[in-house]
Parts: sequence; C-alpha cells; structure tokens
Amino acid sequence: MRLIIMGPPGAGKGTQGERLAEAFGIPRLSTGDMIRAALKAGTELGEQVREYYEAGKLVPDEVVLGLIAEAFDEPRSENGFLLDGFPRTVPQADGLGDLLRERDLTLDAVLSLEVPDEELVERISGRRVCSNCESVTHLSALGDSGECPECGGKLIQRSDDQAETVRTRLAVYRDETEPLLAYYAKAVGLTSVVGTGAVDDIQASLVAALEGVGAK
Ligand SMILES: [Zn+2]
Repeated sequence: MRLIIMGPPGAGKGTQGERLAEAFGIPRLSTGDMIRAALKAGTELGEQVREYYEAGKLVPDEVVLGLIAEAFDEPRSENGFLLDGFPRTVPQADGLGDLLRERDLTLDAVLSLEVPDEELVERISGRRVCSNCESVTHLSALGDSGECPECGGKLIQRSDDQAETVRTRLAVYRDETEPLLAYYAKAVGLTSVVGTGAVDDIQASLVAALEGVGAK
C-alpha cells in the first residue's frame, strides 16, 4: 500500500498517518523526521542537509527527494509507505512522480483530510507546551490550575501556534499545497475524508474510504 496523506496544518495528518501506517504495516515517512534522522546519521546527504539547516535555509527539493529515495529503498518500505508532509508543492510532486516511475511503483491513494479553517485556528492556537517536560496539551483539556497535566510545569504557547501565525500558515497552504489536490485528483484520484470529530471515527472513515477505492 503506497499512500500520501494531505491536509492543512492542524488537520491531524500526523495522528491519523501514524495509525494508518500501523494498521497497514507500512512505515510513515515524514520528511521532518527524515531530516532530523539525516542530521544525526552524518551520511553524505545528512551533511548536505546540515549545511542548509545551519544556515537557516530551507532544505532544497533535490536533497529531500534524495532522502525519500533512500527511504523507498530500505527494507521497511517493501510493502509500501505512507508519506506525510510531502509533497507540498507541484514541483515536489513532479519529483516524487519521477522517483516512483524509476522504481515502477504507483500510488494506491492520496488521502485528503478536510477541516474548516476556523477549527484549525482553534485547534492550533489552543495548543500549549510544557516548558519543563515539553508535552503538548490543549486548553480545552486543561483544568483550572493551568499547569502541565504531566508534571505541573508552566505551559507556554509556541510563537508558531499563535492565531495570526496560524492564519498565515493556512494562507501558504492554500497557495502552495492546495493546488496539489487538483493535481492528484487527476493523476491518481483523491480520497477526501472529513477530518472533524472523534479520532477513532476519522480513522474508520479513512479505512472505509481506502477500501472504497480498492486499496488494501
Ligand atoms: Zn510538563
């Protein structure tokens, strides 16, 4: 099973991607994780990543595609993979298409999690991070104390999670990434699922949608 999971920031890609990958026995390939792993591993690609990373620059598409190519060729990807967080732009999707073609692979489905903007802003801007143990919690799940439920530490809001910043991130998503939905609707077929409600229900909808398109 070869899948891509897409959706705006805060849509639940990480949570749902993790669950789907486990259910289907495939790795969840997150480019953020791959970049962090490459930095640690000290491989040739990792050194390239480090140059950009330490200069505070975006890691270029060719380098990220190199990391993905490596992950595709690892034994853990033998039965497929779930890509999370990539591609984000049409040129990246073209690059991914080349990697797949070189390996005679095709995508089984592209999943899109649909969540209204206002709920995304509410979800992300309500996040608080513990300054002591770094666990993440949501304001709606907090008691009156306002302390970390894990350790009692002080909770802070990441600057990335402030409502205004979230709106900017959503605008970037609409501009750069949303065109991919039409791209994949044409190339592979898009499987859209409502990403609001209980986590278990959303997962059930995703699995049912995958069965509906004949992926297994
Ligand atoms: Zn804590």
